[in-house]
Amino acid sequence: MLDALVKHARDEEFSKSLPPTGFYNYSQPIRWVVQISERGARLEEADLSGLLFARPYTGRTSGIDPHPLADEACYALGVSVDDKGKVDDRAAEKHAKFLALLDKMEDAPQLDADIRQAIAQVKKAVAGEWLVDDARWAEVKSKDWVAFQVQSGPLAGKKLFQLPAVQAFWVAEAQERIAVRDDKKEMITGECAVCGEVKPLISRIPVGVKLISKPGPLHSLNSNAFVSGRTDTSGHNNLCYECADTASRVFNALASDKQHRRIIVMDKVGKQVKLDTLRNQVALFWVEKGRPLHSAEDFSFQSALGNSYGEGATETKASEAFDFESALGDLMRPPVAGDSDSDSDNDEQPKPKVKKGTKAAASAPAPPKPEARLSQLSSLLNVQNAARQHLTFLDGSKFALAIFSPNVGRTALRDWLYLDLGRMLPHVRAYLNATTINDAWGSPATHITSTR
Ligand SMILES: [Zn+2]
Repeated sequence: MLDALVKHARDEEFSKSLPPTGFYNYSQPIRWVVQISERGARLEEADLSGLLFARPYTGRTSGIDPHPLADEACYALGVSVDDKGKVDDRAAEKHAKFLALLDKMEDAPQLDADIRQAIAQVKKAVAGEWLVDDARWAEVKSKDWVAFQVQSGPLAGKKLFQLPAVQAFWVAEAQERIAVRDDKKEMITGECAVCGEVKPLISRIPVGVKLISKPGPLHSLNSNAFVSGRTDTSGHNNLCYECADTASRVFNALASDKQHRRIIVMDKVGKQVKLDTLRNQVALFWVEKGRPLHSAEDFSFQSALGNSYGEGATETKASEAFDFESALGDLMRPPVAGDSDSDSDNDEQPKPKVKKGTKAAASAPAPPKPEARLSQLSSLLNVQNAARQHLTFLDGSKFALAIFSPNVGRTALRDWLYLDLGRMLPHVRAYLNATTINDAWGSPATHITSTR
């Protein structure tokens, strides 16, 4: 499964929903950008958030773990008071570590002369206390995120932490920090279980995956759990940093997209949802595209539908109304309408579909009926002689389905299905046919689905 997750990151369209390796889409925005010129610096207030402003991530908890060129103000500027007036006793220490990381960057092979020059300016600005006289200095709180930008030279106007070379430095640095080490503190290398390359093995995965409650590691082990591991050292994941991080980022992107996620079972006692029990089952699924596509149109399953189907529906309309992957997911819907798909998703961010059966829905006017997607799927599978290339002709496309349960701070994989789309579609067709009824008058077949 890890292998399939990592592969999915190479999907051109899907990869747009991923932050760079080692980066994380923080909910907290960047509040200050330090604008640095030759002789001075000033604070510029900002509100930068979202995937575009994903930042380096270590998963730090109580330790002191600085990030390169973007961090909280206690690290980046040594500010010790937060917005509630609480003083961080370790701000000086954090700031010193931040500066030490800048020193380390100046010697890093990934960075060129322009970036080194910019880093030297950042150091001058923060160590030389150019900012203390800034009119807005008193407004900076220890937990505010701060980024840096230079105003002249070839890097002018760019956020320094976003430069590809800085990202590459961060991947190497993060790997070093979480590598498993031997008695002499040397990094232990081994064959990564996903990419097969011999690289430093990691002791933990910084980015947690969010299934239904709080984020937890995608992969964890008890010592000696994997005695077949390729080194004699316990406490490692048999994964390299990049593969582990990529798998987690892909997981999170899938889990936050209702088109790729269905709740199958939610453990409830009365209205109380028990988030952390193994009875919960959440499915993530996706289609792994096979051969490289010649053009986007090749994959246009919707236009196949639009051409041979629907009452004069335009291609655009058809594509808005129908989504193949999502329809496959609908096969996993529970048999009783309004059960799991409704209040099961209660407090999560991804809010799938119409919320049937909830209090809000009961008092509100009835929402429009969802599309009868299974019948659309059936129609699609039965499209004959379509003029265009049909989606199901794609060579090597695979359907991937993983079912997870949360398990006290971990994520347990309960079931894993990964097979050629070509092999799966006959089963889907058989299922749809088996759940189709024609009435006595021979009117068009209807599907018995949870939406009816
Ligand atoms: Zn790897």
